[in-house]
Amino acid sequence: MTTPKELTGWLNAPVPRYTSYPTAVQFGPADEALARSAYREQITDGSPVSLYLHLPFCKSLCWYCGCATVITRKQDQSDRYIDYLEKEILLLKRDLHPGHRVVQIHFGGGTPNFLTAAQLERLMLLLEKHFNYAQEVEFGVEFDPRGLDRDQIAVLAAHGLNRASIGIQDVNPVVQEAIHRIQPEQMNMNAIAMLRGAGINSINTDLIYGLPHQTPDSYNETIDAVLRMDPDRITTFGYAHVPWMKPAQKLLDPEALPGPEVRLELLQTGILRFTEAGYRFIGIDHFAKPGDELSRAQDAGKLHRNFQGYSTHSGVSIIGLGMTSISQLPVVYLQNARDLDDYYRMLDEGRLPVIKGYRLNDDDIIRRDVIMTLMCGLELQFDRIEEKYNITFTDYFSEELEKMEPFRLKGLLVTGSDHIRVTETGRLFVRNLVHPFDRYSRTISRNVYSKSV
Ligand code: SF4
Repeated sequence: MTTPKELTGWLNAPVPRYTSYPTAVQFGPADEALARSAYREQITDGSPVSLYLHLPFCKSLCWYCGCATVITRKQDQSDRYIDYLEKEILLLKRDLHPGHRVVQIHFGGGTPNFLTAAQLERLMLLLEKHFNYAQEVEFGVEFDPRGLDRDQIAVLAAHGLNRASIGIQDVNPVVQEAIHRIQPEQMNMNAIAMLRGAGINSINTDLIYGLPHQTPDSYNETIDAVLRMDPDRITTFGYAHVPWMKPAQKLLDPEALPGPEVRLELLQTGILRFTEAGYRFIGIDHFAKPGDELSRAQDAGKLHRNFQGYSTHSGVSIIGLGMTSISQLPVVYLQNARDLDDYYRMLDEGRLPVIKGYRLNDDDIIRRDVIMTLMCGLELQFDRIEEKYNITFTDYFSEELEKMEPFRLKGLLVTGSDHIRVTETGRLFVRNLVHPFDRYSRTISRNVYSKSV
């Protein structure tokens, strides 16, 4: 039996994370006409909607950062940004059906708590003024404990905040210095205590494995610290080292980055420790307490994957607002300008700041279903796809099934005449396993993706 470690040499190739299919690399130039028609056609009366707001400002740069950020200490930048968010919302509203229902709101960044309590209050009032909220709204915010205060939490809680995600990454001081992010453990504990004190009982902690100087021992310290925090959910992302796309990552010492075998050990350490502590392993990189909605969604086969990771909201259109944000409508993806000046300029010109997009064709829709089913549920029954899309699975995907054979021989997959099932070992490499179903994998340079291990 081949061990996971022995497989890293073969499988450690650049492949997408498949938070969408096709991936953002496939998006082409798009104009306002595509965006306007997509909103008009695809969000109808009663359509559930999720709002994603990208709040890009951060006070200092973490050297591993892969997000779209604007580093500044000028607090008034956020006032101007909120002005432009309102312009964007007003333009969007021309085509947004008034009967839409907002069921989810997510603030990501950047650092959403870069905004002061007063700025957050203004932003919340803006959203409440322009969008129709459903009776129950899941409202989550990504917080950086550095600079989080009670007033910010109080404002958000008063406007319905019910999920918090805390960026921890790693608690080891040597790792923190190497990534330019100093964050003492007490600061994390204080953030969680403040959130719980405000009644926010669904708390997620984000960790990253694969950072400079991380070892299984140091990562165990981080895991111990996280378990002391007793979060409801834990996310463990593999650090994506793509310095040709994220120049700040060149500041990291490449010699200090753990190699693929250590990265795999870190991932496995997290899986072992968190599941031993009673968390359920969700998808490929999330953990949740057994009673958590993510666990229940996984059991019910209702887990869903989108640009924010795993979600319990399937069939919901995501409207992305702010620079670089991506909207995911049923068959159209749209991406906003990636640069703050371009975002502002397009809005000043009176047009939606959409620069890229993609309309899925019939084949994309089938492949998306196959890839997301495996990424979420780790199993695929062919008859479900056949009935839904009127195809014969083994004919339609004969080439892809042939490419599965080496994975099957190595014990990563079990295949039958009517199904594919990912094994526990295969779960460590799911991105590789679904890759053959990606039609565009044959034509796109793999340099745009991070390595799978
Ligand atoms: S706080 Fe988050 S978004 Fe900002 S630089 Fe650090 S990792 Fe990037």
